[in-house]
Amino acid sequence: MKHTRLRRRISSGLAFAAAALFAAPFLGAQAQQQHAHVHGQIKLDVAIDGPTVVIDMESPLDNIVGFERAPKTDAEKKAVEEAIAQLRAADKLFAIDPAANCKLGPVDLRSGALGLGNPDPNEPPGHADLDATFSFNCTNAAAAKFIDVNLFNAFKGTRQIDSQIASAQGQFKRQLKRPAGTQASQPVRLGWGK
Ligand SMILES: [Zn+2]
Repeated sequence: MKHTRLRRRISSGLAFAAAALFAAPFLGAQAQQQHAHVHGQIKLDVAIDGPTVVIDMESPLDNIVGFERAPKTDAEKKAVEEAIAQLRAADKLFAIDPAANCKLGPVDLRSGALGLGNPDPNEPPGHADLDATFSFNCTNAAAAKFIDVNLFNAFKGTRQIDSQIASAQGQFKRQLKRPAGTQASQPVRLGWGK
């Protein structure tokens, strides 16, 4: 009796290992596909949770500085420095609905190519991302119904922003397109709720 049980456990263990072995390549392909970035596109996840508004951003580095590797020339180094300064001053990039009364908190920047933070280890070869988490502390976060987004103006390579918002009013998906001509220098409103 004991023996049979043990055998069964071993064989089910083997079956599990085999299943995992077969599943692994598919999972790998899927993870890579999910990660593959599109130049011009920025992904934003906005979470309104308790007293905070947290904005998670995933962007191809190309959108931000125009290349996807460590900077080489002085001009490239300057472009990187300026971009990092803009990202750190995130309350200029994201003006949250004044009803929420938010102040910028911690900003976490991650990019392997720029040697920033703890970058995503699954970057597709030949490409580089700049990922960021911007946290805002608010006295009335739940009241927020929009964010005026200045990314098109700050980062000229940005053509489209795909965003998801999780708020007390529900979950929303919104897509913003780069406005034509000089309009792109104006913030674009990312709105939700009623
Ligand atoms: Zn790329």
